[in-house]
Amino acid sequence: MLEQKTEVAPEAQRAPSTGRLCEYCGEPFEPTRRDQKFCRPSCRAAASRKEREDRRDRAGYFPGFLGC
Ligand SMILES: [Zn+2]
Repeated sequence: MLEQKTEVAPEAQRAPSTGRLCEYCGEPFEPTRRDQKFCRPSCRAAASRKEREDRRDRAGYFPGFLGC
């Protein structure tokens, strides 16, 4: 006898385990990839642009500081 039990945890429906928060805007989203960190391409672009600017600021700051 095969007893088929469909056990669905109510918590799993309310909060999907795949759910993740966008690292840029903080919106909850379901990643289509395991390494996805942002809810949409625009967030990823904005975050990478910000990171690049931060790095450039830091990189531009040190040489000028050391040249003093
Ligand atoms: Zn986002």
